[in-house]
Amino acid sequence: MGDITKEHGEFPRTERTRVTRKPDRGSYDRELIYSILDQAFVCTVGFIVDDLPYVVPTNYVRVGDKLFLHGSTASRLMRTLSGGAPFCLSVTLLDGIVFSPTATGNAVNYRSVVVMGKAEVIESPEAKLAAMRDFVDYVLRGRWATVRPPSEQELKGTMVLAVPLVEASAKVRTGFAVDDNKEYDGSAWTGVLPCKWTSGEPLADPRGKPDIAVPANIAHYTRPQ
Ligand SMILES: Cc1cc2nc3c(=O)[nH]c(=O)nc-3n(C[C@H](O)[C@H](O)[C@H](O)COP(=O)(O)OP(=O)(O)OC[C@H]3O[C@@H](n4cnc5c(N)ncnc54)[C@H](O)[C@@H]3O)c2cc1C
Repeated sequence: MGDITKEHGEFPRTERTRVTRKPDRGSYDRELIYSILDQAFVCTVGFIVDDLPYVVPTNYVRVGDKLFLHGSTASRLMRTLSGGAPFCLSVTLLDGIVFSPTATGNAVNYRSVVVMGKAEVIESPEAKLAAMRDFVDYVLRGRWATVRPPSEQELKGTMVLAVPLVEASAKVRTGFAVDDNKEYDGSAWTGVLPCKWTSGEPLADPRGKPDIAVPANIAHYTRPQ
């Protein structure tokens, strides 16, 4: 039997990932954390260069127990992470705006993940190419088979980093305001405005061939892919 705890168990609660504020909203469940990660493909990465913090948005793909990042070999983000610098990465899904009867009770419903890690540089051209394919297909399943693959030069200019998922936490807020009943005597509407990411109408590139129809999975795009 395989290592079920690794695939389906919980991440360890470490000193850095222990949710201290509203701990009931925290989770270390791998399945939950992976489901949040798979809903998105943009994260923000925080790292330190010369004692100064930077937080930079970037794309990622999750493959099994790893995230992969990619970028130009000239990028400060990629160069810093490739040097073994510790970093923190987060992903947030906004699920709703919570309107409470009090100013301080207003809140948001969300699912978010924080990952602490160190990256490993993917050196072999085959592994890099596989990661590039995963990047493309993670955003749109089946896309890789329809586009020109990267040239040797493009592969050389792209750095791919693997982030083993070993230290991660999720935090999830759901439901209405948590104010006391006595606060509900006022005149403000209270409730939740659900929010979700949706795609719009596809816009055809004027340089594309007009006889190629919009694929169904672009016209009706959903996450996860
Ligand atoms: C949704 C999204 C997805 C992206 N995906 C990727 C990806 O997969 N790979 C990749 O390499 N890059 C990606 N980028 C671009 C990425 O954010 C960085 O601009 C890029 O990686 C260069 O990083 P750097 O540290 O070398 O930036 P530098 O150019 O060294 O940063 C210098 C300064 O420029 C400003 N800056 C840099 N980037 C941004 C930004 N995005 N927004 C506002 N100010 C900025 C900041 O003030 C920063 O301190 C993505 C950006 C977005 C918004």
